[in-house]
Amino acid sequence: MSRLAGRIALITGAARGIGAAIARAFIDEGAFVHLSDIDDAGGRARAAELGERASFRHLDVREESQWREVIAGILTEQGRLDILVNNAGITGFENGDFVQDPEHASLEAWHAVHRTNLDGVFLGCKHAIRAMRGHGSGAIVNISSRSGLVGIPGAAAYASSKAAVRNHTKTVALYCAEQGLDIRCNSVHPGAILTPMWEPVLGDGPERQARMREFVRDTPMRRFGRPEEVAAAVVMLASDEAAYMTGAEINIDGGILAGSVAAPEPA
Ligand code: NAP
Repeated sequence: MSRLAGRIALITGAARGIGAAIARAFIDEGAFVHLSDIDDAGGRARAAELGERASFRHLDVREESQWREVIAGILTEQGRLDILVNNAGITGFENGDFVQDPEHASLEAWHAVHRTNLDGVFLGCKHAIRAMRGHGSGAIVNISSRSGLVGIPGAAAYASSKAAVRNHTKTVALYCAEQGLDIRCNSVHPGAILTPMWEPVLGDGPERQARMREFVRDTPMRRFGRPEEVAAAVVMLASDEAAYMTGAEINIDGGILAGSVAAPEPA
């Protein structure tokens, strides 16, 4: 397959989970992939597994100076950036802080989630537009969430940040079109995808299987999605197959946003 042959891509949060699966799918489609993450050991290991068309760069998406440095390095080495996937994201549960509801969440936790999930996407789009402007074309894919389309009482900051990513995607898409640039920007909205992100809430005890069933109880397809199933849609959005798609959103959620599968019971 060569839908991304010769393209230069940068993926954030690519050391594991969905980002790592996107990196693998991009390589399989012929791209050169710069994996980036704050997990240097994990990111280097993933890049090494992917072979000579992959490299790793440290990039904390919250830090504008690091965005400047990483993108300047790619432009110096390869002369262009064709694809950016803003994938890095956190739930806020990582450090064991499960109090994320709108009444009790701390302002500190609220800001921390927005800094990574929203500021990171803003900075990525900003510097990618500047890099892609040189050759006038490119594709930006922002990983939002099903949680950006509905309210999530137990994860207020996460839901708010992902909703803002959805909206900013459309702003970027319109801005680029207005500027006469063929830089497309679209968002992807995964439902429950089984990655290490879920470990703090699933745990590894005897309750794990029951918790997994509970989390997908309302998903019509009754299972977690796989990272590869998200990566497949990202490949399409990054490729020429999506040449007329910008400001659009794709849900990959086992049907949960389509509505309820519950059938009315006879009285
Ligand atoms: P994951 O397994 O937790 O992987 C996320 C990666 O991002 C980790 O390697 C993490 O590094 C890295 N990261 C965290 N903060 C970062 C920062 N400031 N700068 C750069 N990298 C950073 O998550 P995932 O499940 O693959 O999720 C990927 C994206 O999909 C996220 O945006 C997430 O919100 C979204 N999403 C996931 C699901 C799901 O069910 N899994 C559903 C909807 C949307 P450390 O491990 O060192 O923190």
